[in-house]
Amino acid sequence: MYGLGILKGLGITMRHFVESYVDDIRWLSKGGRYYNDAALEERQGLQGTGIITVQYPEEKLPVPERFRFVPFLVTDNPAPGQMYGKDWCTSCGICAKVCPPQCIWIKRGKLPNGRPNPEPEEFYIDIDICMNCGLCAEFCPFDAIKMDHDYELASYDRTTAHIHDKARLSKPISYWREIAPTRAAHEAALRDEAASKKKKK
Ligand code: SF4
Ligand code: SF4
Repeated sequence: MYGLGILKGLGITMRHFVESYVDDIRWLSKGGRYYNDAALEERQGLQGTGIITVQYPEEKLPVPERFRFVPFLVTDNPAPGQMYGKDWCTSCGICAKVCPPQCIWIKRGKLPNGRPNPEPEEFYIDIDICMNCGLCAEFCPFDAIKMDHDYELASYDRTTAHIHDKARLSKPISYWREIAPTRAAHEAALRDEAASKKKKK
């Protein structure tokens, strides 16, 4: 019959429309279907129902722990009165080497006696070129570079605003523990294990 496909399509749209309201009512007592981890997991999974348009930027979905955007540099938590903690980065250069689009620049630091300082003097990432692959974080032997959850980085400036320098990139380890608690705990356990093995030698 002519038009059956159109009717079927309209029927599916109508079903999703109704399911959206049913879903809203179902999650009402649990804090709403947009704003908690359990709801997000269900909506992004195969069991998700309804029309899931989000009125961004008024409404924002929480991102899962595995989400990754441009990288940031991990530092110790800053001491009271200090803006930045000690860098974890040793300026070994591995991340810059493995970065596929080559958007990381590092200037190694030097001690007053001219020997290399295991901290970067300057560190830049061009976020317009970064493709968010996460290889830098995968390869860093010191857990010093991690993928951030902050995706609201758009600006009208096409020049320096999109080249993140060391000050812009540096974030304390407490931030990483906040956005990726499972991975941060796992990495900390591995570091502790490695440290205790080293001590025993
Ligand atoms: S791989 Fe890690 S320690 Fe080496 S330069 Fe990159 S961020 Fe720093
Ligand atoms: S996420 Fe990928 S593209 Fe971006 S800086 Fe790291 S390695 Fe380079």
